[in-house]
Amino acid sequence: MKFHILTLFPEMVLQGLMSSITGRAVREQKIEVEAIDIRDYTKEKHRKVDDYPYGGGAGMLIQAQPVYDAYQSVSEKLSPSHTRRVIYVTPQGSPFSQQMAEEFSAYDDLIFLCGHYEGIDERVLEEVVTDHVSIGDYVMTGGELAAMVMVDVIARLVPGVLHNQESARTESFQGPLLEYPQYSRPEIWHGKAVPEVLLSGDAGRVRAWRLEESVKRTRERRPDLYAQYQELVECRERMKKQKRLHADMLGLLERGCGQRPCRCGERILLYGRDGKTMFYTSMGAERESEFWENLPEETLAGVRRVFLHQQASVEPFQKRTGMRLIGRYRNWIYTKKEKLPVRGLYRQDAETEDGFLIRELANGQYGAYVQETLAGRAGIDEEGGLWTECFWTDLPEGEKVPVEKALWTFLSNLALEQGFTPYARLSAENAVSQNRLEELGFYGSKTELYCMEF
Ligand code: SAM
Repeated sequence: MKFHILTLFPEMVLQGLMSSITGRAVREQKIEVEAIDIRDYTKEKHRKVDDYPYGGGAGMLIQAQPVYDAYQSVSEKLSPSHTRRVIYVTPQGSPFSQQMAEEFSAYDDLIFLCGHYEGIDERVLEEVVTDHVSIGDYVMTGGELAAMVMVDVIARLVPGVLHNQESARTESFQGPLLEYPQYSRPEIWHGKAVPEVLLSGDAGRVRAWRLEESVKRTRERRPDLYAQYQELVECRERMKKQKRLHADMLGLLERGCGQRPCRCGERILLYGRDGKTMFYTSMGAERESEFWENLPEETLAGVRRVFLHQQASVEPFQKRTGMRLIGRYRNWIYTKKEKLPVRGLYRQDAETEDGFLIRELANGQYGAYVQETLAGRAGIDEEGGLWTECFWTDLPEGEKVPVEKALWTFLSNLALEQGFTPYARLSAENAVSQNRLEELGFYGSKTELYCMEF
């Protein structure tokens, strides 16, 4: 990912971003950062870029021409196949949030425009800017700090930027709860002891304590987020009555990445991490047509893919949105707490000879190797679902089933180690993998899910 920052103070931006973790990420080529001096593009003598605002008023305004030319100099260099957004940091923008950062982190190029003085001539903003973003309800002297805040937050979501990816997932604001309190050595400092449970070595007790503390802290410090959390708990309890059918929606909530939950009586709407995938269950509520006809437009804004959990929703949903049914699925869930037996199936180091070798691939996926040949890939997707893919044609007949079994077992155990319930969404037609999961102790939903797209 590359960040391009259009600014009057390139040295300020580079000094800040070339330090600490973002600086390391640049040196390790995980991200690129360039600062473009808007002043280099002015046609005025004395490198002047500002002028008085028409109609009068205090202060000066950055003129359209140098901003436009600086933007063009970046834009011309970008590959047409790259995805990009152009962000004007302004107190008049939408409030920056972790969810917005998740969305931006999926782009190849992000161009930031930093204002100064009283801001920038509106006409160039209209021509180049795709997003207006504010970092808070206060006014700073320039956009540099705002752009730096945004680059920092987005960069840490880019794979490989944080050396321990775990911490990106469990820190504050990933879900609606604030993070629990943390302690390091020594055990006693200023007469204050570290809570006993953290020294117990009992992972289950530690997890329960942390959740309790997170809830307490959120209730005290952020009542607004606490209300969201209570809403999530309510949704979860309702969906748990049909655990298998709702395994994907429950998985999203469990991982703290289900966005904007919305409950309307028995009905629940939930969005994936990027806001483009929506999940819906009616849980038997009646009058589906009426519900979809009256749903406010903003509920569907930006949604590209929808999983409907009841067949009765398909027709009225299609009528309202124009999206078509593109596939039927079933959710599969493993509800036991014990890990699956591994003996003879796979190994993660090259020392032993027992089973396929499973290695982490560069992109966070895992590969199963048969004599150094990649025989299958697997991973846990953004929403927490397990998936596998076997390269059947390259494999000898006798090894096809064991490779798939090894990968499902490996992923299930990985999810359990991370404290999550393993689940997978399989095409309703994929009888082979469904049998495999059944053999491993997964249960499939009795009814199907319906995937809708444009
Ligand atoms: N006259 C502008 C207004 O009232 O909206 C404020 C201009 S401000 C003094 C100068 C620049 O600082 C802005 O153009 C913007 O780029 C940046 N800026 C100030 N506060 C900001 C905030 N809260 N979030 C993002 N950018 C901000």
